[in-house]
Amino acid sequence: MKIAEYIFRSASSFRTKQRLVIMLACSIVLVVTLLCFLVYSFYTFNRESRERLEALSDIVGADVGAALAFGDDQAVSKSLSAIKADPSIKRLFILNDNEQISAHYHRGDVGPPVDLLRCLNATRSESRQHFFKLSPSIERPIMKEGVRLGTILIEQDEHVITEKIVATSAISLFILSFALGFSYLLADRFQRIITDPVTAIATTMQEVSYTKDYSKRVSASDTDEMNTLAERFNEMLSEIERRDEDLLERQEQLHHMANFDVLTGLPNRVLFNDRLEQALLRASRTGDQLAVLFIDLDDFKMINDTHGHRTGDQLLLETAARLSAGTRAGDTLARLGGDEFTVFLQDIKSPESALSVARKHIKTLFVPYQIDEKRLFVSASIGVALFPSHGTTAETLVKNADSAMYLAKEKGKNNVELFTDSLHTILSERLGLCNDLHRALEQEEFELYYQPRVNLERNTWASAEALIRWNHPELGMVSPDKFIPLAEQTGLILQLGEWVIREACRQLHQWHAQGFYLPRISVNVSPLQLQRQDLLGIVKETLTENRLCTQALELEIVESALVEDMGRSITILRELKEIGVKISIDDFGTGYSSLSYLRTLPVDILKIDRSFLLNVHESEKDEQILAAIIAMSLSLGLEVVTEGVESVEQGHILRKHKCQDAQGYYFARPMPAEEFFQRFTALQPGLERFRFKPSGCTKTFCCMLSGGSSSNCGHGTFCFAERRLATS
Ligand code: C2E
Ligand code: MG
Ligand code: MG
Repeated sequence: MKIAEYIFRSASSFRTKQRLVIMLACSIVLVVTLLCFLVYSFYTFNRESRERLEALSDIVGADVGAALAFGDDQAVSKSLSAIKADPSIKRLFILNDNEQISAHYHRGDVGPPVDLLRCLNATRSESRQHFFKLSPSIERPIMKEGVRLGTILIEQDEHVITEKIVATSAISLFILSFALGFSYLLADRFQRIITDPVTAIATTMQEVSYTKDYSKRVSASDTDEMNTLAERFNEMLSEIERRDEDLLERQEQLHHMANFDVLTGLPNRVLFNDRLEQALLRASRTGDQLAVLFIDLDDFKMINDTHGHRTGDQLLLETAARLSAGTRAGDTLARLGGDEFTVFLQDIKSPESALSVARKHIKTLFVPYQIDEKRLFVSASIGVALFPSHGTTAETLVKNADSAMYLAKEKGKNNVELFTDSLHTILSERLGLCNDLHRALEQEEFELYYQPRVNLERNTWASAEALIRWNHPELGMVSPDKFIPLAEQTGLILQLGEWVIREACRQLHQWHAQGFYLPRISVNVSPLQLQRQDLLGIVKETLTENRLCTQALELEIVESALVEDMGRSITILRELKEIGVKISIDDFGTGYSSLSYLRTLPVDILKIDRSFLLNVHESEKDEQILAAIIAMSLSLGLEVVTEGVESVEQGHILRKHKCQDAQGYYFARPMPAEEFFQRFTALQPGLERFRFKPSGCTKTFCCMLSGGSSSNCGHGTFCFAERRLATS
């Protein structure tokens, strides 16, 4: 049983197992049948033998009866001669009525009388237990007319039955083997009906698991259960196929998201770095040069803030399209994020060829953008780093190209800059300054210098411009040109700008308290302050805190901050102007230099950049340009101030063209508050101390600044009576 179990378990396939089961069942049935048949045959042979022996004994008994009655043993013996011809008889004994052997027959030799008697006894005992014996024997009385004459004992030769049984068994075994062979064939044939659908499912499963092709299906079967199994299996495959497709789609999406920029569809930083690394490996084998261009749009943030993100996105799409058009197949263009793009150029012959590609990009990006109804002017700055001279890894090259791009921006934007090793020093210095800036505010390292603005007609100090200075503990006095752009980049300008407004107003209030009347103070305001700060709130609060008239404060805005329709900035400036704060355009002429847009802007004063004065005393043409700007500004109702007056000639020319105010080293350099106060009093020996009116508002000063009409007043808590300054 255990062996059968072992064989069954070790059978590898379902088909073999099933075949084994069928064969086992068949074998058991056939063997049992065979055994039953053999037992039955044996029994039948035995019975038949006995009947035959009985019949034989009756015949022999009748033959020997008379001879036995006469005790003629010889005649008895003679009567047995017929029996001797029968090969199935093994032994025969005729006993007389005294139980003495009268005659006997024995196949083969029998020894002395003792052996004969033993045979007789053996035959007698066997004849009594005749059932299922291979050599049946019988003992019967010999009767004649009711008298017992003797006894006959016959024993059959066992070979007769043995041969019969052997023959029957051999035939049965032959039939059994044939039946088993036939059953095997039938089993093999019939079990296919059951196993084929199962095998089909198993084969399909195996194929699917190898090929991962979930589109395969199992054909339906004719049995209900198998059909249901096949259907469920197919449904399961369909489900897996659907999920597999979903998974593939998601994987593709994820792969795309991980490697491509969602907005522009360009490769992102990950893919760019990967491709660049591969290109670098190739280039290091072949010895080719490679260039990385770092492209950044100038003032993109402003466009985004002013026109909204939708316009910003469209602009980026257009930028990506323009850059793609200018990128060779084989080179990779990527968007790193925001308005930052990178390209790497393979097989560059010289730095100049990389620079010329960069210049080409600058040119294409400078073409005005038409987005919806808007025409936008955008420029870009590009930094270039070369392999192998500026770095050997993707990370270093991108970082160095980025640094070069920063330098391009600092040099005035819309520019290409090639990385140089000295850039590291510049950048690390800048980084150092950047870190120091944060500390400087807390440590009160900043100070305001004041530069007077002179009224050319009356020759008086009409106001002062507050100019920030950084008293760096190690570097000494740091110029605002160095740290203001940094503060703007880091956003620290918001805190710094607020501090400047508060400090300038505090100073003006202090001077007023000292009895030094200065009508107005001007403060430079960064475009970022307009966009990200509650400038109106800060100004109102500061003026109130320092009990200053709103017209005592002037805010200087660079013209680039106002060129585009910067909704929020313009609204804030308008609100500031409405409460009486003066708004001036600083460095006019360095940017868009369009006087026509000034009409629409909330501006009171125009500060002409000092570049217009540079050659004015030598060049008639320059003088004419300056004169035209002054005239046009005046005609627009704006006050005009010219910056950077360094010589007496320049002063004369300005006076000649009716420029109202001027500022420059010729009159005074920017100076600390105390010096400003000292110089002012020293310059004006006959100066009467201005009278401070602590209560009530005479409105005189306010009226004077607003053109003499008293109706415009009402902004200041305290006002000062104007006194004309004695001129030297
Ligand atoms: P700005 O507002 O145009 O200021 C005038 C600049 O010209 C000052 O430089 C001043 O010292 C210089 N200057 C005045 N007269 C002459 C002259 O006759 N010749 C020459 N060559 N230069 C003259 P400074 O103080 O170095 O300031 C540079 C710039 O830094 C300022 O230009 C302004 O844009 C910015 N800045 C200064 N202080 C602040 C501030 O508190 N906030 C902001 N946002 N920017 C400031
Ligand atoms: Mg200024
Ligand atoms: Mg200026």
